[in-house]
Amino acid sequence: MLVKGICVRTGSTAMVPLQEKLSVYKALLTGTTSLAQGNTPHEVLKAACDALVASSGRICLAWMYLGNPASETIRPSYSAGRASEYALNVELGLSPEAMKCPSRRALAINEPVFIKVTSDPSFAIWRECALRYGFQEGLALPIGDPDYPLRALVVVFADTKNYFDLVGLEPFLAFAQLATVALNQARMKIALEATASTDPLTSLLNRRALQDIINREYAYAKRTSKPFSMILFDLDRFKMINDNYGHDIGDTILLGISGVAKNTLRTTDWLSRWGGEEFLAILPDTDETGALKIAERLRQRIEVFSFQLNNQKINTSASIGIASYPRDGDTPDFLMKAADAALFEAKKSGRNCVVEAKNKREIYSIAAKLSAAIANDRLVPACQAIVDLKTGSQVAEEVLARLIDESGNIIPAVDFISAAMELQLTHLVDYQIIKQTMNRCSANITAGGQRLVHFVNISADLLFHQSIIQDLFAEAQVACLACGADLGPTKPLVLEITERQLLGDINAVKAKLAPFIDFGMRLAIDDFGSGYSSFQYLADLPVSFLKIEGSLIKQVKDKRVRQIVKRISDIAKDLQLISIAEYVEDAETADILRDLEIDWGQGYLFGRPVLTEQHYQR
Ligand code: GH3
Ligand code: MG
Ligand code: MG
Repeated sequence: MLVKGICVRTGSTAMVPLQEKLSVYKALLTGTTSLAQGNTPHEVLKAACDALVASSGRICLAWMYLGNPASETIRPSYSAGRASEYALNVELGLSPEAMKCPSRRALAINEPVFIKVTSDPSFAIWRECALRYGFQEGLALPIGDPDYPLRALVVVFADTKNYFDLVGLEPFLAFAQLATVALNQARMKIALEATASTDPLTSLLNRRALQDIINREYAYAKRTSKPFSMILFDLDRFKMINDNYGHDIGDTILLGISGVAKNTLRTTDWLSRWGGEEFLAILPDTDETGALKIAERLRQRIEVFSFQLNNQKINTSASIGIASYPRDGDTPDFLMKAADAALFEAKKSGRNCVVEAKNKREIYSIAAKLSAAIANDRLVPACQAIVDLKTGSQVAEEVLARLIDESGNIIPAVDFISAAMELQLTHLVDYQIIKQTMNRCSANITAGGQRLVHFVNISADLLFHQSIIQDLFAEAQVACLACGADLGPTKPLVLEITERQLLGDINAVKAKLAPFIDFGMRLAIDDFGSGYSSFQYLADLPVSFLKIEGSLIKQVKDKRVRQIVKRISDIAKDLQLISIAEYVEDAETADILRDLEIDWGQGYLFGRPVLTEQHYQR
């Protein structure tokens, strides 16, 4: 039957009803819809194959391929239709003969190629089989950008001669174009994901990617009651390598170390560049004993690794902290903190060593007490007087932290501050105490009390919490307004930074403290004389007070020590700083210090730290 406009007829015997043509269009549209839904190229092509064979009884097979045809044998990765069994025979290798076959040709010229089953010489080897399945004609449709390795192919066979002439190529071409877009998008996504999850220098996973893995491994370990371990390692004195040999050599060594670590860990382990010269490995299914062995092997291999620069060998070493689930913590966060604390311990113990996060339970229990105390306003200030050594009258106070536990016991800072430091909670302690000190200062001025300078301690940890610094700054402004007095440019709060703690980059510290300094608060260096960085701090920070290391004051009756304290006193004078001696426990010491022209004194001679009245009344 031939009805114009409804049936399409060409010179051949076959007829393709318009309905069928529309169905094929629709089928290819299904592939396009799948594309719009953000499906993967494989899903898009699969949907198109399914829809094509469903659209017409004349289409007996549609198969697809997705891969890199330049380097691999083409095999259908999916096939649909009543003759889908035929696809099992398709294997298009890289031989010169296979290269001539229609599918490979289509990819090579990047244009659809018709397959005349009965007459196409390049189809000869498949002809017999194809005819057995009733194929008359085929179309090989190439997809993807020929400039890129990831290509796809959809091959369709029909049982009717000239079928593709009759249906027309337009829908196939439109589909191929859209599928190419899908493929390019997918390729870009893969590339993006790879760069978003790896570190550009070492190609190891980056911190973000490993964080996901930690969560996954943790969930798995919890579900299966299996252990897993973390190995956190940091290169020792790496700054020296950069300073001595330059950043590029530093980078090369980092790359070398990442190779050493990769070779030491097992293929099932995860390794990441956690930051700068710090790496974190996750060892699934590994308990503390297994992790310790691997960490020790890693330490040894890093120690013997060397980089040859001209005639010189550059060596490095690593400090390693290990934490294992479930022994060292119940959550990824806790485990991470435990590994961090163990690494800190390894650095403190002389570096180039492995420290396990064991015996941390006590630390956790102290940390739990501390958290509860903070939540329930049981972290309170205790004030110790600071007097002018010349007049003997109180001029200032240092505000120290005290923890009141659930039974009402008062726990001094020394008993909880190192646990807080290990778990990086000191910023919370600082925040509580500084805030209460500001309120105390403001209330005191409002009540017409004696004007005192209040010294508070700030930790390195606080400086890493910019939002808390901002909060404190806002509180300071409120407190100053609330006190109602005009304090002038210099405010009565002094921030003590101890040189016992490594503050890191001094310029960054300066920038972080700038709002406080600009506001009129002053800086004191605590424990001056106990470490190597004090002079650097003096040089780089706008310091107003020097608090001399307590152990020096305790020995000040010794002539040699007195000379040292004298020199410190001189420096303070030259730099117009107020010098303060801590640990003044008897009158003789106070007399000596006065002779040495130390300005102020603090210690049991003048008074112990006492809780503020309001906390006595609890
Ligand atoms: P410690 O033993 O206490 O770990 O000493 P350190 O010098 O290794 O530690 P610190 O944290 O003081 O310095 C880390 C150094 O690592 C400083 C920094 O420039 C360097 N670093 C961080 N990332 C890179 C990097 O990508 N390339 C190079 N070359 N150096 C880096
Ligand atoms: Mg280091
Ligand atoms: Mg470091």
